[in-house]
Amino acid sequence: RCRENDPAWWRALFPSPAKDAHKYSRGHVGVFSGGIAATGAARLSAMAAARAGAGAVTVLSPGAALAANAAHLTSIILRRCDGLEDAIAFLDERKPAVLVHGPGLSPEPEVGRFALELMGHASGRFGALVLDADGITSMARQRAAFFEARRRSGPALVLTPHHGEFGRLFSDIAADTSLSKLERALAAAAKANAVIVYKGPDTVIAAPDGRAAINSNGTPLLATAGSGDVLSGIVAALMAQSMPPFEAACAAVWMHAEAARRFGPGLIAEDLPLALREVVAGLSG
Ligand code: AMP
Ligand code: MG
Repeated sequence: RCRENDPAWWRALFPSPAKDAHKYSRGHVGVFSGGIAATGAARLSAMAAARAGAGAVTVLSPGAALAANAAHLTSIILRRCDGLEDAIAFLDERKPAVLVHGPGLSPEPEVGRFALELMGHASGRFGALVLDADGITSMARQRAAFFEARRRSGPALVLTPHHGEFGRLFSDIAADTSLSKLERALAAAAKANAVIVYKGPDTVIAAPDGRAAINSNGTPLLATAGSGDVLSGIVAALMAQSMPPFEAACAAVWMHAEAARRFGPGLIAEDLPLALREVVAGLSG
């Protein structure tokens, strides 16, 4: 049940805005920003979400980093968030469809605990969560609580680990050298009840129901700082526009690589969101 990640099979699910769309019906994505020393990652994710078609994107920023974020954001909504209480108030007021947690955060266990709390408060407040980067690493020290929480019902979850992050959260699966990358991704998807985007030159996307796809339009141009942060925003935007998690992840991985190919040499992560424009145009009905 593993296939090549070919747009032919997910293109029919690719979102296009309804004639009577308004910005929130086109999907609202919330991205948690890191502190003053690491705000760029959330902005990359947010810009990518906006370019991938989300109608509204909010960056949730610690108070200390508000000014840094404000200096670099124009079409992205900025909101102060200094902890769980602020986050829940935002969820209750704005009802975002999807949250991105991880880019630019820290590997400290409280970052993981915050994500666990968010998942526990998801019901009726948001539909899906994308965990990337330190959102994954910080979960490693409470993996038992994480896997337990995922056995109960929770929001749809997509994890986008690179090799190092995968090994930290899924250390037992990573240690089994008899497994291929595809088998590892599938085992992780089942264990976390989540769609796994196991990144790298040969990104594998796996779902808990056993579906999987291997991406082959990747390019080493993507091996540049911040590129993964962009990917998390694309996944979130597609889910916010009602694309199911597995298809959204497959589409995002393909679009991310296609944008890099079209831009060509000299690419840095900042270039990717705008480069998505042509890719989205090519996929839209
Ligand atoms: P991150 O390590 O989180 O910044 O993510 C890097 C992104 O670039 C992921 O989407 C990887 O799949 C992609 N990537 C990194 N190196 C390569 C490569 N050599 N070929 C294709 N894609 C790559
Ligand atoms: Mg990353």
